[in-house]
Order: sequence, then C-alpha cells, then structure tokens
Amino acid sequence: MIECVSCKAKYDSDEIIYTCEKCGAVLEVVVDVDVSKETFDCRKDTLWKYKEFMPVDESKIVSLDEGGTPFCKCEKLGKDLGVELYVKVEGSNPTGSFKDRGMSVGMTKAMELGVDTVGCASTGNTSASLAAYAARAGLRCIVLLPSGKVALGKLAQAMFHGAEVLSVNGNFDEALDAVTQLALEKHLYLLNSINPYRLEGQKSIGFEIVHELGWNSPDRIILPVGNAGNISAIWKGITEFHNAGYISNKPMMTGIQAEGASPIADAFRKNAMDIIPVKNPETIATAIRIGAPVSSIKALRAIYDSNGYSETVTDDEILAAQLELARKEGIGVEPASAASIAGLKKLVNDGIVDKGEQVVCVVTGHLLKDPNTAIEASTEPIEIEADVEQLKNILLKNK
Ligand SMILES: *Cc1c(COP(=O)(O)O)cnc(C)c1O
Ligand SMILES: [Zn+2]
Repeated sequence: MIECVSCKAKYDSDEIIYTCEKCGAVLEVVVDVDVSKETFDCRKDTLWKYKEFMPVDESKIVSLDEGGTPFCKCEKLGKDLGVELYVKVEGSNPTGSFKDRGMSVGMTKAMELGVDTVGCASTGNTSASLAAYAARAGLRCIVLLPSGKVALGKLAQAMFHGAEVLSVNGNFDEALDAVTQLALEKHLYLLNSINPYRLEGQKSIGFEIVHELGWNSPDRIILPVGNAGNISAIWKGITEFHNAGYISNKPMMTGIQAEGASPIADAFRKNAMDIIPVKNPETIATAIRIGAPVSSIKALRAIYDSNGYSETVTDDEILAAQLELARKEGIGVEPASAASIAGLKKLVNDGIVDKGEQVVCVVTGHLLKDPNTAIEASTEPIEIEADVEQLKNILLKNK
C-alpha cells in the first residue's frame, strides 16, 4: 500500500502514482513486516539481505549487488573532533553512489509494472545509476541533466551505459518539472526520488548502520541533503527496525546543506515545516545543488521527530573536509559527500554535537565522480627523467 504523507490518503501499490491526487503531497510505501532479526543471518551483504522489508516482487529483482558498503571507523578524525566517528562509504556501490540502492528497488518495481521506458532528471548520480540499472533490466532510459553542471564521471557513466542523455538549459529543479510532466502523461516511468520505491531501497543504509553496530543506533547520523530523499529514507529504515523491535534507540538525524542551496536548513532555523525554495541554487557540490527539495516534508519530519539538526556549510568548508577525509583517513569522496564531515566539524565547534557522541557520517558518492574538482585541489605531479639519481634527490629533499 502507498500512503500520502500529509492527508494519509491510501493508494494501491499497482498504481503508477508519484504525488497525492487529493492534496499533492509526496507518497510513502507502507511496509508491514513480522520476522525476527535472525532472518538476516548468513545472507549475502547486499540490500536484498533485508528483502522482507522491500515491498516488491522477489522474482523480478534487478540488482548489481548494491549495498553492504564499508563502514569505516575513523580513529584519527574522530580523535581530533572528540567523537566516536564512523563513515558509511556509499561510493563503494556499483556505480559509485547510494543512488544504486534506490535504483535497484525502483527498477524492480518498474519490471513488476511492466513499463518499457524509464527516466529521471538528475544532478548526475541518479542518471548514472538509472542508466546502469536500465541497461541491466533491458529498458529504454532517458535522462535530463542541467547543462554544464554535471560532474564529468557521472556524465560519462550515463552516456556509456546507453541512456539517451538530454542536456537541459536550466537547473535541476526545472529539469525535474519537465520530466515529471512527461511521466504524468505516461511517456515514461519516473525514477527520481519522488518515486517512493527509490526510498525503499535507500532506507537500507539505516538498516546496515544499526545492524553493523550490533543492533544499536548511533547517537547521530549526519548526511548531505539535496532533494532530501536520502535523509527521509534512512529515517524510515531506522523507524521500521525500531518498530520491529530490533533496536531500542534512534539517532538524531542531522542534515547538512550547502550555503547556496539550503531551503531545509533555512526552514529548520525557523522551526518551520514549509520550505521557501531557493531560486538559483549554487554550490560546488553539484549533487546537492537543489533549490526545491521534493522530500522536504519527510526530511523535516525526520529531523524534528528525531531531535536532530540541520546546518549549512560553505563551499570552502566542503572542499577542506573532502581533502581532510582523503588525506587523514584514505576515504575519497565527491564534494557533496564531504558536506557531512564539514557539517560535523561545524556542529562540534558550535557545541551542538557533544564530546564523545557516537556519530555516523554518510559519505554519499565516490571521489572519481568529480575528477576535475579533485585535480584542481591538488598540486601538479613533479616532472622528472626516469633516472635514479634525480629520483633520490627528490625523495631526500621532501623527507
Ligand atoms: C543524490 C546525492 C545527494 C543528495 O541526496 P538527496 O536524497 O537528494 O538529499 C548527496 N550526495 C550525493 C553524492 C548524491 O548523489
Ligand atoms: Zn494527500
């Protein structure tokens, strides 16, 4: 069953529907599961480990073994900040971002519904993921990207996996409006995160975190927020495991936005439920360069209900955190992902995060998604001849 998050109107799960026909709000899949947590023992480490919680037909699964990503304790960075820090490395998914989790479940639903064309608007990672999963499913794939604003790696993936890539003169929000119209006219099945099945896959990040911690919730989960689907999804997952009795506590959901694209953080500051869209969102973290997040109600609810927080960080803070995570812990992430680390640093400084808190930062996409930003932030290689003496000189000089 699908339910409106606002007026609670109910819809059948075979209906192709993206927003509530009665009030226009976003929808949520209602999952009712009654299994013991031992059910998941000895299963392969993918999101389908928790298949009882995935509301789709098991015989139609489209998967690239997404999920089961690394959960790395960061001793050095954690010590510097005075917290117990874990990083959930979503760049290790098949196409290099957490979008694969949502796409696996969303594509499975597409197969169940029997559609022949799928589509999305994307800041990059959704299109990269959709293109790969559509190829695997054998469906036609159309993606709309904001012209000139998509990181190189993501563009390469979408094109190489055979999607029909359209470059839109406009930003993400405008591209999403256009493709949503196409979907409402039934020309394609929309796999943006307004599609509630996407979030069903992404909620497995929450499942894995609490399972990894021995059926315990961390004090806090911090993640970057763009269209606000992921924070909503993780909270949904945590809540489902809590309702199932697997865990007795829940984390403070903490959403970080870029200063130039921060409608959720702005609403949080005013303790409001409604966002004021940002007309011309701007940030180097292109994956969260979004002015009108479709899942804002779900996200703000997650933040308020969990006694969480929302904050903004500057592009400079994002880039500094990206570099620090790469150099101190060996974890390479794209700029948007580093917003979670930049946010943690800011919240520790501001006294919002307490000393000794157990914190999980979700880093959402791989470093190689955006090679240009990485190269610009680095010093050029030193040119030498293939000569041992020259090599020795340099090694000794830089010691
Ligand atoms: C999609 C994406 C985000 C934002 O997630 P939302 O669900 O839109 O809030 C953050 N980081 C990366 C790398 C992404 O691909
Ligand atoms: Zn409604």
